[in-house]
Amino acid sequence: MLVNKNENAIPDYYYRHILDITPDKIKNMGAEAVAVDLDNTAVHFGSFRLEDGMREWTENMLSSGIKVYIVTNALLGRAFILSRQMCSVGFTAISLKPSTRGIETASRRLGVPVSKIAMIGDKLSSDVLAANRAGAIAVKVEPLSKSSGKAAKYAAAAAAAAATVVTAVIK
Ligand SMILES: [Mg+2]
Repeated sequence: MLVNKNENAIPDYYYRHILDITPDKIKNMGAEAVAVDLDNTAVHFGSFRLEDGMREWTENMLSSGIKVYIVTNALLGRAFILSRQMCSVGFTAISLKPSTRGIETASRRLGVPVSKIAMIGDKLSSDVLAANRAGAIAVKVEPLSKSSGKAAKYAAAAAAAAATVVTAVIK
Protein backbone atom coordinates (compact mmCIF):
# COMPACT_ATOMS: atom_id res chain seq x y z
CA MET A 1 0.00 0.00 0.00
CA LEU A 2 1.30 3.41 -0.93
CA VAL A 3 1.01 5.98 1.80
CA ASN A 4 2.18 9.55 1.90
CA LYS A 5 4.64 10.52 4.60
CA ASN A 6 2.16 13.21 5.60
CA GLU A 7 0.13 11.54 8.32
CA ASN A 8 -2.92 13.52 7.27
CA ALA A 9 -2.99 11.60 4.01
CA ILE A 10 -2.92 8.09 5.51
CA PRO A 11 -6.14 6.18 4.82
CA ASP A 12 -8.08 4.33 7.51
CA TYR A 13 -9.01 1.56 5.09
CA TYR A 14 -7.73 0.36 1.76
CA TYR A 15 -9.50 -1.59 -1.01
CA ARG A 16 -8.40 -2.29 -4.54
CA HIS A 17 -11.72 -1.38 -6.16
CA ILE A 18 -14.84 0.44 -4.98
CA LEU A 19 -16.97 -2.58 -5.94
CA ASP A 20 -15.07 -4.59 -3.30
CA ILE A 21 -16.62 -2.38 -0.59
CA THR A 22 -19.87 -3.91 0.67
CA PRO A 23 -22.54 -2.35 2.90
CA ASP A 24 -21.39 -4.64 5.75
CA LYS A 25 -17.84 -3.35 5.42
CA ILE A 26 -19.13 0.23 5.59
CA LYS A 27 -21.18 -0.62 8.70
CA ASN A 28 -18.17 -2.31 10.29
CA MET A 29 -16.25 0.97 9.85
CA GLY A 30 -18.92 2.61 11.98
CA ALA A 31 -20.16 4.62 8.98
CA GLU A 32 -23.75 5.46 8.06
CA ALA A 33 -22.99 7.15 4.74
CA VAL A 34 -20.45 7.10 1.94
CA ALA A 35 -19.08 10.10 0.08
CA VAL A 36 -17.88 8.88 -3.29
CA ASP A 37 -15.22 10.43 -5.52
CA LEU A 38 -15.98 10.16 -9.25
CA ASP A 39 -12.87 10.35 -11.43
CA ASN A 40 -10.79 7.18 -11.31
CA THR A 41 -12.98 5.82 -8.49
CA ALA A 42 -16.50 5.45 -9.96
CA VAL A 43 -15.76 6.39 -13.57
CA HIS A 44 -12.72 6.40 -15.78
CA PHE A 45 -11.07 9.80 -15.76
CA GLY A 46 -13.16 12.33 -17.66
CA SER A 47 -15.82 9.78 -18.67
CA PHE A 48 -19.55 10.41 -18.78
CA ARG A 49 -20.34 6.74 -18.22
CA LEU A 50 -20.20 5.03 -14.84
CA GLU A 51 -17.95 2.04 -14.29
CA ASP A 52 -19.89 -1.20 -14.84
CA GLY A 53 -21.53 -2.30 -11.59
CA MET A 54 -21.60 1.15 -9.97
CA ARG A 55 -25.37 1.57 -10.32
CA GLU A 56 -25.96 -1.79 -8.65
CA TRP A 57 -23.37 -0.93 -6.01
CA THR A 58 -25.24 2.29 -5.24
CA GLU A 59 -28.61 0.52 -5.13
CA ASN A 60 -27.15 -2.09 -2.79
CA MET A 61 -25.81 0.59 -0.42
CA LEU A 62 -29.11 2.49 -0.39
CA SER A 63 -31.23 -0.61 0.15
CA SER A 64 -28.93 -1.58 3.05
CA GLY A 65 -29.56 1.77 4.72
CA ILE A 66 -26.23 3.37 3.77
CA LYS A 67 -26.65 6.89 2.42
CA VAL A 68 -24.68 7.78 -0.70
CA TYR A 69 -23.38 11.18 -1.79
CA ILE A 70 -20.94 12.26 -4.50
CA VAL A 71 -18.05 14.58 -3.64
CA THR A 72 -16.17 15.39 -6.82
CA ASN A 73 -13.80 17.95 -8.22
CA ALA A 74 -15.56 17.46 -11.58
CA LEU A 75 -17.63 20.23 -13.11
CA LEU A 76 -21.35 20.57 -12.47
CA GLY A 77 -22.69 19.18 -15.76
CA ARG A 78 -20.76 15.93 -15.68
CA ALA A 79 -21.39 15.46 -11.95
CA PHE A 80 -25.12 15.84 -12.64
CA ILE A 81 -25.09 13.33 -15.51
CA LEU A 82 -23.17 10.79 -13.42
CA SER A 83 -25.34 11.26 -10.33
CA ARG A 84 -28.34 10.44 -12.52
CA GLN A 85 -26.65 7.11 -13.27
CA MET A 86 -26.14 6.57 -9.51
CA CYS A 87 -29.81 6.64 -8.45
CA SER A 88 -29.80 10.48 -8.53
CA VAL A 89 -27.95 10.72 -5.24
CA GLY A 90 -26.96 14.19 -4.07
CA PHE A 91 -23.63 15.63 -5.08
CA THR A 92 -21.17 18.45 -4.61
CA ALA A 93 -19.30 19.34 -7.80
CA ILE A 94 -16.11 21.43 -7.95
CA SER A 95 -15.55 20.39 -4.34
CA LEU A 96 -11.91 21.53 -4.45
CA LYS A 97 -10.69 18.54 -2.42
CA PRO A 98 -8.60 18.47 -0.28
CA SER A 99 -10.99 21.17 0.89
CA THR A 100 -13.43 19.68 3.40
CA ARG A 101 -16.37 21.60 1.89
CA GLY A 102 -17.88 18.67 -0.01
CA ILE A 103 -17.80 16.30 2.94
CA GLU A 104 -19.27 18.94 5.23
CA THR A 105 -22.03 19.60 2.70
CA ALA A 106 -22.71 15.86 2.52
CA SER A 107 -23.01 15.78 6.31
CA ARG A 108 -25.53 18.63 6.33
CA ARG A 109 -27.63 17.31 3.45
CA LEU A 110 -27.66 13.70 4.62
CA GLY A 111 -28.10 14.51 8.30
CA VAL A 112 -25.14 12.27 9.15
CA PRO A 113 -22.23 13.44 11.35
CA VAL A 114 -18.95 13.82 9.45
CA SER A 115 -17.37 11.17 11.70
CA LYS A 116 -19.87 8.63 10.32
CA ILE A 117 -19.13 9.36 6.66
CA ALA A 118 -16.69 7.14 4.77
CA MET A 119 -15.01 9.15 2.00
CA ILE A 120 -14.07 6.74 -0.80
CA GLY A 121 -11.50 7.93 -3.33
CA ASP A 122 -8.35 7.10 -5.25
CA LYS A 123 -6.14 10.07 -4.38
CA LEU A 124 -4.21 10.50 -1.15
CA SER A 125 -3.62 14.20 -1.86
CA SER A 126 -7.30 15.03 -2.37
CA ASP A 127 -9.77 12.37 -1.14
CA VAL A 128 -7.85 10.94 1.81
CA LEU A 129 -6.49 14.30 2.92
CA ALA A 130 -9.96 15.89 2.72
CA ALA A 131 -11.43 13.01 4.74
CA ASN A 132 -8.79 13.29 7.46
CA ARG A 133 -9.02 17.06 7.63
CA ALA A 134 -12.81 16.84 7.97
CA GLY A 135 -12.69 14.06 10.55
CA ALA A 136 -14.38 11.55 8.24
CA ILE A 137 -13.33 7.94 7.62
CA ALA A 138 -10.75 7.79 4.82
CA VAL A 139 -11.11 4.88 2.40
CA LYS A 140 -8.51 4.59 -0.35
CA VAL A 141 -9.05 2.64 -3.56
CA GLU A 142 -6.72 2.09 -6.49
CA PRO A 143 -7.31 4.47 -9.42
CA LEU A 144 -9.31 2.83 -12.24
CA SER A 145 -6.71 4.05 -14.73
CA LYS A 146 -3.06 4.11 -13.83
CA SER A 147 -2.53 6.85 -16.35
CA SER A 148 -3.95 10.23 -15.57
CA GLY A 149 -3.70 13.69 -16.96
CA LYS A 150 -3.16 13.96 -20.70
CA ALA A 151 -3.19 10.25 -21.50
CA ALA A 152 -6.50 9.73 -19.70
CA LYS A 153 -7.99 12.81 -21.33
CA TYR A 154 -7.03 11.50 -24.76
CA ALA A 155 -8.49 8.10 -23.87
CA ALA A 156 -11.75 9.73 -22.72
CA ALA A 157 -11.90 11.82 -25.89
CA ALA A 158 -11.29 8.71 -28.00
CA ALA A 159 -14.01 6.82 -26.11
CA ALA A 160 -16.44 9.71 -26.59
CA ALA A 161 -15.64 9.84 -30.31
CA ALA A 162 -16.14 6.06 -30.59
CA ALA A 163 -19.47 6.33 -28.76
CA THR A 164 -20.57 9.05 -31.20
CA VAL A 165 -19.72 6.81 -34.13
CA VAL A 166 -21.55 3.85 -32.59
CA THR A 167 -24.62 6.00 -31.89
CA ALA A 168 -24.54 7.28 -35.45
CA VAL A 169 -24.32 3.73 -36.82
CA ILE A 170 -27.24 2.56 -34.64
CA LYS A 171 -29.40 5.46 -35.84
MG1 LIG B 1 -10.39 10.56 -8.18
